[in-house]
Amino acid sequence: MAFVILDPCRQEQSAECLTVCPVDCIEKGPEQYYIDPDVCIDCAACKSVCPVDAIVEEYDLTPDQETYLEQAEEFFAK
Ligand code: SF4
Repeated sequence: MAFVILDPCRQEQSAECLTVCPVDCIEKGPEQYYIDPDVCIDCAACKSVCPVDAIVEEYDLTPDQETYLEQAEEFFAK
């Protein structure tokens, strides 16, 4: 399991999540930040500091939001 950053990040990109992640698994992508799903330890620290509530747990993703997990997997596969 991992946390996933959704599209509200695109307009905000405050990066507060980066400062609290204990395993340093959040990186800036071309349009938003992404969480590496293979490294995330599911601690929820990032979710609590996000000013636009853009971060959700993987199992809470709606079918329409699955694409953001796929984008994160593709981003870190590079
Ligand atoms: Fe980092 Fe924890 Fe957020 Fe995962 S849930 S990205 S480990 S702060």
